[in-house]
Parts: sequence; C-alpha cells; structure tokens
Amino acid sequence: MIDRVIILDWSAASAPKTGKDSIWAARADARGCTAQNIPTRAAAMDWLAAQIHQAAQDQARLLIGVDFSLAAPQAVTRALTGQGDAFALWDWLATRIQDDAQNRHNLRDVAAAANRALGDGPFWGNGAARDVPDLPRRKPASHWPEWRACETHARALGLRPKPIFQLAGAGAVGAQSLLGMAHMQTLRRDTDLRVWPFQDISDAPCILAEVYPSLLDNDVAAQLARDKTSVKDKVQATLLAQALYNLAAQDQLAPLLAEADQPGARAEGWILGLPHQTALRGALPAQVQPPRLRDDCFAMPQGVDWMPVDQVLAALRGALHPVVAQQDLPLDQAAGRVLAAPAVARRANPPRPNAAVDGYGFAHAATGSGVQRLPLVAGRAAAGQPFDGAVPTGAAVRILTGAILPEGVDTVVLEEDCAIDDAAVVFDGPVKPRANTRRAGEDMNAGDQALPAGHRLRAPDLALLSALGVGRVTAFAPLRVGVLSTGDEIIPTPDKPALAHQIYDANRPMLLDMLRKWGHKAVDLGHVRDRADQIARRFDRAATQVDAIITSGGASAGDEDHVSRLLRQRGNLTAWRIGLKPGRPLALAMWQGVPVFGLPGNPVAAFVCAAIFARPALSQMAGSGWLDLSAFTVPAAFSKSKKPGRREYLRARLTADGGAEVFASEGSGRISGLSWATGLVELPDAAATITPGCSVRFIPYAMLGL
Ligand code: AMP
Ligand code: MG
Repeated sequence: MIDRVIILDWSAASAPKTGKDSIWAARADARGCTAQNIPTRAAAMDWLAAQIHQAAQDQARLLIGVDFSLAAPQAVTRALTGQGDAFALWDWLATRIQDDAQNRHNLRDVAAAANRALGDGPFWGNGAARDVPDLPRRKPASHWPEWRACETHARALGLRPKPIFQLAGAGAVGAQSLLGMAHMQTLRRDTDLRVWPFQDISDAPCILAEVYPSLLDNDVAAQLARDKTSVKDKVQATLLAQALYNLAAQDQLAPLLAEADQPGARAEGWILGLPHQTALRGALPAQVQPPRLRDDCFAMPQGVDWMPVDQVLAALRGALHPVVAQQDLPLDQAAGRVLAAPAVARRANPPRPNAAVDGYGFAHAATGSGVQRLPLVAGRAAAGQPFDGAVPTGAAVRILTGAILPEGVDTVVLEEDCAIDDAAVVFDGPVKPRANTRRAGEDMNAGDQALPAGHRLRAPDLALLSALGVGRVTAFAPLRVGVLSTGDEIIPTPDKPALAHQIYDANRPMLLDMLRKWGHKAVDLGHVRDRADQIARRFDRAATQVDAIITSGGASAGDEDHVSRLLRQRGNLTAWRIGLKPGRPLALAMWQGVPVFGLPGNPVAAFVCAAIFARPALSQMAGSGWLDLSAFTVPAAFSKSKKPGRREYLRARLTADGGAEVFASEGSGRISGLSWATGLVELPDAAATITPGCSVRFIPYAMLGL
C-alpha cells in the first residue's frame, strides 16, 4: 500500500533554471496533487530528503518516481566498476561527479573518464561549446550494448526511449541519468530508501523507482492542448503522480511492481509502468477541465422522424459528457457534490480493535466452560481513555463500549451477564472467542476505496468519509443550469397584476426547484417575450454564465414558436419528435457551446420532459453519470386503453392498499394533477389495455430525485 507518490521530473541544466526543461516535482496523495518548480538539483535533493522525513513522520508510505535511468547496461557497469549491480555504478558516479548549489557540474569530464576506462567509450554528445577530450560530439562506433532490457522492451512496444549514453540533443537522458544516479547514491546514504527493482521493497517505508513520462504522452498532449499556458514537464509529473497514486489507492500497483521479475531487471532496472500503459492511463483522473460538447452533438440520425423515448435517451447518453471542472474541497463543503476521483480511506474503521458493549475484557484462551472467575485488574478501558498497560492472561479488565482492547484482551463479556465478587468478575462459560469486539478495519481498511468517482455525496457518505479520515475530496464543480421562460402571454411572477390574456409563469419556479433537487446550481434567467432578438440576447448572456440552458415554451414548429425558429437559424437545432405523451417535440440545440433543452410550454409536458430527458442528461454533464429510470411495479387502480406508438406518463399516486390511481383528467394543462400526484405511471410504447389489478410501472417523484 502506498500513501503518497512523488514524481521528480529531473534536469541536467548547468545553471539554475525554472519553467520549461527544468526540475518539476509533483506530489499526489488522498488530498490531491500539487506540483512545484525547483531551480537546482541541490534544492531538489534537499526538498526530496525533507519529503522522505515528512512521510516517515506521517507514517505514510512514499513512492518516488524519477524520470531518468537508474542503471546502465550491465556489461558497462561491470567493466567500469568490476561489479554487476547498479549501486556499484551509482557509487562510481557519486565519487566522481561534482554538482554544486548553482547546478555547475563536471559531468562531461566524468563521462570522458568513463569512455577512457571503457576503451571504445559509448558516451557521446556534448552540449557545451568547449570540446571535451574523449567525449565525441557525434555517436561513435562502440562495441558496448546500447540498450537495457527494459528499453528493448519499450522499443518493441513502439516507444522511443533514448540510450543512457547520449548526453546531449533533443530528448537525451544520459546527462540527467548520470547526475541523477550520483545524487540518489547520496540520498540512499542519508535516508531509509529502498530502490525498486534492485532491492526487496516489501516493507520499505520509502521506495524509489524509475519512471518514463512518455507512457502518458497522449494524455500529456491532451492536457497541454486544453491548458496552453502549462509547462510540459509539470503536466508530465502531475499526471504520472496522479495515475500512480490512483493505481496504488485502488490496490492495483502490484502487477507493475511484479515486473521486477523481468529478465535483467534486478541488475539493469526496469521502468515502473512498463508495459502497463493501459492501466496507467486508465488510472488518470477525469480531465480537470473537460472539453466542451461538440456543436453537432444533438444531430439526429439521418432519415429518422419519430423517435421512441428509449432511442432519445440512448442518443442523449452518447452525446453528452461531463463539462464541469474539478475542485479539491474540504469535506464540510462537499455535501451534495459529485466525486471526481474515488474517495480512499486514510485510516481503518475502526482503527484499532475495540469493545462493542460495556462489560469485562480478557484473553479468551484462559477461559473455558462452566463458571468462570477472573480477577479484575485495577483501572478500566473506556472510549478515548485507553487502558494503560497489559492485562495478564487469566485476569479481566472493566471495559466500556468503543474502548480500544488493551493488550492481552481479545474477548468481552457483556456486563449484564456478569456478577462482581470480591474484585473478580464471574460469568458462565463458554464465551465465543472475540465475542462483543470489533475487529480493526472490519468496516473498512486504510487504502480501501470508500466511494467511487461519480458518486454524489449524501449525509451517510459524510459520516463514512469522516470516520475514514478523509478530510478533503476531489469533486466536480456544480453544474450551472439556467432556466428561461418564453411567451408573450407570460407574467413572470404571481405578485404582479395580470390581464385577461395573460397567465402566470408556472414553469420557471417548478424547473428551478427540480434542478436544485438534482444537485445543480439553478440560475434564474427570467422570462422573455416571443422576440427572436431578445431571446438571442438572453442566450448570449446565459452562455457565459451557465453550462446548460432549459427553456420552456415556443419549442414547436408553429408561427409563434420563436425559440425553435431562432435555434434553427443560429443554434444547430435538432427538433426531436418523440413518441411521448405528454410532450411535443423536444428542441435540442447548441448555443455558443452550451446545450439548450427546449421544453414544451405546457407545464405538465415541461415537467415530464424535464424529468425523463433533462434529468439523466444533466446528471451525465455533472459528472454523476447517466441515470436510468427505475420504478416500482404496482397493481393499477384504474382502467385505460392506449394506442400504440408512444409512451405515456400519467399523473398518479398510490392508494391506501398500494395500487396506483391516476388523475381524473389527462388534460395537459391541468397543473393541479401534477400537484395532486406523488409520481408518474409509465405506460409502454406498445398498445395496452389496463384494467384494475394489472401490473403497471409507478415512478414516485422521489425516484425522480424530487
Ligand atoms: P407553447 O409551447 O409556447 O406553445 O405553449 C404551450 C402552452 O403552455 C400554452 O398554453 C402556453 O400559454 C403555456 N405556457 C407556456 N409557457 C408557460 C409557463 N411558463 N407557465 C405556464 N404556462 C405556460
Ligand atoms: Mg408560446
């Protein structure tokens, strides 16, 4: 189990340097990931040593990955040092390389000395102006093997590692590898560091491994494309730290570490993550700033006219993806938020074995059947007041619920089953071993995944994460959804007078509340008259404020359907004619990258379309994944026969004996029926004749998140 991952993106610069091609260090743990730029190798090594000490203090197991080779081909090491193991080379380098606090180093001279010692030296490349004797500028003919086993393996997978012998030129890693090994030798002397795959790491508090950021090249490129101001080395270190940490947190690091058994790995090293590129990429967090939706994401399949509800849902599901940024939040601000990364237990629950009842604790081994009489030791164990010392076998201690079991105690007998007699506890045996105790970690262990990414945090989740010591989570920012009502007849609020031809806006308060109940940030975009220019202006402003827009009214194809006309002209409108009652076409369009869901004006139809289509679509955009409609099957308490070709939703509620009754009128203007109902009855697309007692699907409002 690893609690913390540090990735050091190293550099061979010969002066202090920041920004591109300098040293970046990323640190990932359950709290998230941070990255920093360190100007010199000396400062980086001080920082790293401090991190190792800090991790030891925190009792956190640390994995350090460095992006340089930790060994040379074994033949070279042997010829240079007389020994075949990598540490001999580290030592050879550490005794010769000087690298001061200003990054001034003598690496080229040391490489030249190695060339001289090796005869036809393999090291080449000189980034400096001065010529260095015995260090050719161009690649020489040399009989030394160029590649280590892991590099040969990487090349076979189509990766393009550079040989350790190349000291200069684009992508060269030789100089930084030699400097790195020298520094690591010093670090190894000063700290309790175990190096994978050279050493046994099974109980190592701190592990050093070689990593290769190119394993994540595609993801690094995608991240750089999203954030043009970012530095490649920083992104590489950050993504690799996050991926390795996430793998560790999901307990999936073992296959990567098992590559230590590859032929040659113990002598020549191995790249951690090779050949597990897929696992590594799979463990990357969802994109921090997700891309916007495609402009044509709502395009209807060609030649389709009427669409069944299920097909509309499938199409929406395929077209949408999370559009919300990620944030690192303290738990007390995270209620209702959607996790963007799994929440991982930082400590076990319970952290130590403890008592489940008030009673007397003892070692089970010293008890048997029949009357048991155990002398009581002085003192007691209570929650928050641990017993000081050990309880001798054959004795018992007073113990209260939640107290850590003292040393020598593995079983507790309930106080109601005991008598106290002259400083001894007396009870009837046998008692089951470990009775009335809770095992450490019986609920969850440190490192267990407590909650998956995509989960919306509810009250019980806050209890769980708090118990597991998870004080911070990576969550998605709330999805912001605007609600706009349209129509010349609409008066925005019921506190204003209305003329005979005017009606109050019923949809907006309803839709705003539905969005809030679904956990989104509902943004009131008000009301607008049936004027294309005004609607357009409102959309323009909204597109800068919200992630999605819901309108009601004007969504059909009639004379006064200004929303659909405007969206057709300027917003890639797809009017989806859906086999659904109540509900006319659902207008779907993109306005400046923001999806617009044009709902019918009719409040009953607006409600049903919002619940059936907008709810799962918005959930997907919010990072909490698609929501399938679940329902209870209950007996009908009504009769109805329906035609084939469209799905129907009836306003319904449960009768006292558990049947579903439906509202007397199916008139879609009857808002009172929506309010009377406690859910919807869903009738299938096909024809159906329902008589009392037939099974029907009842979807309570609560199952619609309302
Ligand atoms: P429309 O979709 O614009 O043709 O409107 C269909 C019906 O719904 C008409 O009777 C409208 O007056 C009514 N309606 C539209 N918007 C609202 C609203 N916000 N509140 C209440 N009724 C509305
Ligand atoms: Mg209208």
